[in-house]
Amino acid sequence: MPPPACWCKNPRFEQFSKDYAKYSACGTLVSCNPLPADQVAVSNDDIDFYGKKYWLDHQKKELGFPDIYTRSRNDLTERNLHWLKTLLKYCLPQTSVLEIGCAHGSFVALMNLLGFVASGVEMSPWVVEYGKKTFGIQIQTGVVESLDIPAGSLDAIVMMDVLEHLPDPEITMRHCIRLLKPNGILLIQTPQFRENMLHADLVQSKHVFLDQLKTEEHLFLFSERTVTMLFRQLGISHINFEPAIFAHYDMFFAVSRTPFITNNPDEIEACLLAMPQGRFVQALLDIRNRELESEQDRAARWEQIQTLTKMVHESEQERAAMHKRIASLTTNIRKLYSHRSFRILQKLSNWTEISNLTHQIDGNHE
Ligand SMILES: [Zn+2]
Repeated sequence: MPPPACWCKNPRFEQFSKDYAKYSACGTLVSCNPLPADQVAVSNDDIDFYGKKYWLDHQKKELGFPDIYTRSRNDLTERNLHWLKTLLKYCLPQTSVLEIGCAHGSFVALMNLLGFVASGVEMSPWVVEYGKKTFGIQIQTGVVESLDIPAGSLDAIVMMDVLEHLPDPEITMRHCIRLLKPNGILLIQTPQFRENMLHADLVQSKHVFLDQLKTEEHLFLFSERTVTMLFRQLGISHINFEPAIFAHYDMFFAVSRTPFITNNPDEIEACLLAMPQGRFVQALLDIRNRELESEQDRAARWEQIQTLTKMVHESEQERAAMHKRIASLTTNIRKLYSHRSFRILQKLSNWTEISNLTHQIDGNHE
């Protein structure tokens, strides 16, 4: 089946895999078997794709992720802190933030704790109720285009793992930009397609990006270049790529219509420490930083162990080769003893070599 039209409207494409086409002009991967656009919204939580089952069975059984109950506890200690750290670079509390696709809402809750005026959007009424009940936050139900949000009213819109699910990313991004204040930002996490990737190579190397090829739900997969082109088409030329928490398959970036004005780490810390609730959030960020430092330290030590193990292995191989050489020389000497005419001369030269080798081995292993 041919893929749906690309956001760039250029019709030329080549087949990337059974389920994805790569559009030639922009390099975007587009799903050939997308969930039909009219089935993206949730009207019946029991049967619709992004309904209750998506958050329970689908995430757990088909994608291998923890279900929403576990995620609403675990996300706070890792991805939410990573996102918050980057958001603070661009926006400080009490600015207004909307999270599209907020799931259980823990990130919205963390932002509110810090004094942001934050709320969320989700499509499943069931997950909206779960988020409201769990975190006591505001979540609206539906797709963002259907909501009554005044144009030019938001300082930031965050979308984590949402862009790739949109049936028409160009229209939805255009709408989101309209909701922002003139200097507002979009902060986006989405899978990163590296354009030099061939499907056969990904399969052969069992690359983690293969898990992102979920043809029904990941409709558009961008590279850094293609996502820059998408926003340029929307009149946005300021785009900052930030470190992604899952950098081996994701990208993370901010976009703005006006040049970025960023807060430096001292300004952020001063802001957080000036509020009682900010001190608690700073404490969480401190713990997370210590955890990351110790992870890096562990990785460095593991690399050192591997280098040393390789060296030991090589030296053992060298030693074995020398022993083999000694054995072969000894055999030769025994043979030479049977040839009287060479006996004395050969005996002397062979023993000199054996003696040299023995010294070398002793020298290597002292
Ligand atoms: Zn395209």
